[in-house]
Formats: sequence, structure tokens, C-alpha cells
Amino acid sequence: MKVVAPNGTIGILGGGQLGRMLAMAAARLGINCHIYCPEQDAPASAVSAKTTIASYTDAASLERFGRAVDAVTYEFENVPAETVEILTRAGAVVAPGAKALAVAQDRLIEKQFARSLGAATAPFEAVDSPDDLAAALKRIGRPAILKTRRLGYDGKGQTVIRSADADTGRTWREATEKAWAEIGARPSILEGYVDFAFELSVIGARAGNGEIALYDSPRNEHEDGILRRSSVPSGASEATVRMAADITRKLLEALDYVGVVGVEFFALKDGAVAVNEFAPRVHNSGHWTTDACAVSQFEQHIRAVAGWPLGNSARHSDAVMENLLGDEAARWETLAQEARASIHLYGKRDAAPGRKMGHVTRIKPL
Ligand code: AMP
Repeated sequence: MKVVAPNGTIGILGGGQLGRMLAMAAARLGINCHIYCPEQDAPASAVSAKTTIASYTDAASLERFGRAVDAVTYEFENVPAETVEILTRAGAVVAPGAKALAVAQDRLIEKQFARSLGAATAPFEAVDSPDDLAAALKRIGRPAILKTRRLGYDGKGQTVIRSADADTGRTWREATEKAWAEIGARPSILEGYVDFAFELSVIGARAGNGEIALYDSPRNEHEDGILRRSSVPSGASEATVRMAADITRKLLEALDYVGVVGVEFFALKDGAVAVNEFAPRVHNSGHWTTDACAVSQFEQHIRAVAGWPLGNSARHSDAVMENLLGDEAARWETLAQEARASIHLYGKRDAAPGRKMGHVTRIKPL
């Protein structure tokens, strides 16, 4: 694997807050970042040496970008397959690779892949029509969640089908057609509702030489499908954490993965775990690593993509990370007076409701 030395350049597809924090970590290592995204004034552009503003399917711009950088990575999982193909043809090395993206982009393939690793998941079935939905609901039961196979995030592209829907006076057909219409009548999966004890994730990294480093697993609390808070220690038993860690290691190896991955788990009431989904990128539930670990998930990702040895993922502090959503970031003046609060703001101007504007991490040294 080609090593990106200091003064070299990593190209990042996507200009959001994850790209911004990757670029800041790269800067500390003397590595420059070149952002590629369709938006003007993206959060990552403000802290990067260079930005190309173009669409993800603009072959000429992608080829130029691919030739201008020493390695390419991405900060969102919905990078079109075509983008990676164009870059690869132009001679660029893209990490994590095309297989990780293909699996993570399709909830059906992702669940089948998790099962192939021996991991448990929610019960699921492919749904391609209201008739499929009715049949799948009979087998899976309610409550259940209908999710689009592709392009869902932060609880978008999904709808819960509750048991109570039976009492709303709607016929069975009306209820299934309504749910099908709600997710845009697209190829989907129906998932059984997991009655979990809590949610847990594993942030892991794999280098090109096969070396793996995992961070302590945070406990994650969601509200309306959006991450609200991640806390370490999680309070999960050693056996639960080990199960999640083992699955993450298998996933990294099966995908011949290079970079950081975020794997989301349901911790079940009997101590076992089920995979919810994984993101082939740095992950919101790993933001606390910037303040509570010697080497953050962002630096770890840059190290892996740049062909450097992985860094020390050990935690020096307990941590609670809270997202600042929508107008919550307007609390910055109050937070700035709090001695224990490490504030991270993403430089976004438009505080739309639920939009991730920043986060705050409170640490307690061990
Ligand atoms: P997702 O976009 O699939 O990660 O879903 C966002 C959040 O919705 C998850 O973190 C869970 O809190 C909840 N959720 C998703 N799928 C299920 C499920 N099958 N059972 C219970 N809760 C779920």
C-alpha cells in the first residue's frame, strides 16, 4: 500500500462535518486534504487546503481530482458506485474499498452479510410491493419497521408499523399501502422490532497490513432515529462487548477493509447482540474519541488510508458526547462557560430542525 507522507494529500469525497474533522486530524499529521463535493461553502472546505465543487458523476472532474491526490477516502456511505469506478480507472486508490460501500449501501445485502458472519440481526424480509409487505407482516408480526433498502439515514426512509394501526379503522390493505407510500414505494426491507436493552456501537479500524484497533464501545441513545448521546463506559458486560468486538473484527477482515468503520448493535436483554447496521466511515458515536483517546477515530482513519501504522486507541477518560441539533448550537455561549465541556461546532449556517450542528463532549479522566 502506498504511504502518504507528510505534505502529501488525501482526497475526501463529501464535505460535511465528518470530512471537516478528518481534515483537522490530517492537518495535525502534516497531511493536506482536498475535498470533493457538489456544495459551495461545505463544512470540510473551510478547514481544507483545496475543494473541487462538482457532481459525483462528473467524470472529467473526478479524473482530475484522482490524479491530484495520493489516496481517496469518503465521509458518507452513499458515494455512487460509479464515482469509485471512475476514480479507480483514473488510477486512484479508494479506501475503504468498493465492496464495503456496496454492502453498506443496501440494507438487504448488509443484513445478509451480517448473517454470513454468524451475527444475529432483526428478523427481516425483502419487500418490493404492498402485497410483499402484507405477506412479510404476517410472518414477522407487528410492530415492525419498513425501511428503504438504499439511501436512508438518521431514521429517514423508514416508517414504523405499530400493532395499534389495526385499531385505526383502516383495512389491512389500506395500512400496508399507506406504509408503502410513506417510504416512497421503493425496494425495501421489513424488519421485526427488536426489544433491545440498549444500543451499542463498535468503532474499529483496520490498516492495509491487516492490523486492527478497536475503541471502547459506547452506549448510544437515539431520539427520533437521530443519535442524541454516546457514553463510555457503556455499562455493557464484558461478554456483550466481546461479542460485538468479535463481529466487528470478522466484518473488517471479510471486507479486506482499510479505514475506520462504525458498527451499530442492539444489546439484547439476554446479553447477546444483534447487528443493526454499519457505516464504512468515521461514525457519530465515535466523536468522543477526539477528547478521550490518545488517537481519535479521525486520526486513525487518516493513518489507515495513508498507510501509516494505527495509533493508540486506548481511552484516557470516561466521556459523554451529546449532539447539538438544530438551534441547540445557539447554546455555545453557555457551553463555553462550562469548564468540562469540549465544544465542537461544524460551521453550518442553517440550523434546520434536527440538523447536526455540532457536539459537546464532557470527559472525566480515569
Ligand atoms: P437506523 O437508521 O436503521 O440505524 O435506525 C435508527 C434507529 O432506529 C436505531 O438506532 C434504533 O434506535 C431504531 N431502530 C432501527 N431499526 C430497529 C429495529 N429493527 N428494532 C428496534 N429499533 C430499531
